[in-house]
Amino acid sequence: MRIVRTVQAMRHEHEQWTGSVGFVPTMGYLHEGHLSLVRRARHENAHVVVSIFVNPTQFGPREDLTTYPRNIEQDLELLRTLEVDSVFLPSVAEMYPLGFTTYVHPEGSLTTQGEGAIRPGHFRGVATVVQKLLHIVQPHNVYFGQKDAQQVAVIDRMIKDLNIPVVLHVLSTTREPDGLAMSSRNSYLNASARSRASAVYRALQAARAAFDEQQETNSIAISSAAQAALQPEQALQLEYFEIRDANTFEPLMTLRAPALLLIAVRLDNIRLIDNFVLHADGTWDTGTTTSQSSTAK
Ligand code: AMP
Repeated sequence: MRIVRTVQAMRHEHEQWTGSVGFVPTMGYLHEGHLSLVRRARHENAHVVVSIFVNPTQFGPREDLTTYPRNIEQDLELLRTLEVDSVFLPSVAEMYPLGFTTYVHPEGSLTTQGEGAIRPGHFRGVATVVQKLLHIVQPHNVYFGQKDAQQVAVIDRMIKDLNIPVVLHVLSTTREPDGLAMSSRNSYLNASARSRASAVYRALQAARAAFDEQQETNSIAISSAAQAALQPEQALQLEYFEIRDANTFEPLMTLRAPALLLIAVRLDNIRLIDNFVLHADGTWDTGTTTSQSSTAK
């Protein structure tokens, strides 16, 4: 496995390759969710590149850029076992040299609502870094997690709008045994908060059950079912529970496929986001629950 730190060296890697290139962008502190993307990329491509870059432009001024969890040695060890070809590990100066001015700025409700409303500028940072990484790595296939539903919607839009020659693959959310969606930020949770955090998953399940079992389609009623499931966990503050069209990201007053159930909560001031997808054919993507808790820490 080769560790590549500069844009120039990454280009050089590319020149050596002939078959398809699969790419998994990450911010590191890898867990099973990330690894599921890497495994899929390994399965589907001749060459696999993983990037680890905690991208400053997608963090707000009061967010956790400096405390974001990092463990490069352990990440590299995990990626070695998955037979990754190259790990792109650029510095901030390599990605944003002095004088950097050109950003990708996605517009409209897709980036101003939901996460965009709570994290202004977040998707501008995400789109900018992903666009840069796609130029640098030049993959045929790129792999993202459904866990960050709005992010994949923004990236999907950007790839289409800017005619980027890459195929986007979106993989199901990997969950801890109790249903909590895996996230590098889960490491911020102390034992007591961690035991409460699976209420987020239960809230999504309650919303799904209201639709599937009670045939409820009214978004307000479905949202109430989700909120009722959160009730016992007083420490958990709901930021939003939203039902949106999966294609347009417009809010739905009545739940109909294809749709996203999106939830964001605060627990001990730590933000947790999660979602379920209701596909056009009426099936749900609620993620994959692992039998073992995350060992990658
Ligand atoms: P991050 O390191 O948080 O930027 O995530 C890198 C990639 O891994 C993104 O495409 C995420 O959506 C994806 N990812 C993060 N958590 C999960 C998860 N629990 N299941 C599947 N994919 C995930």
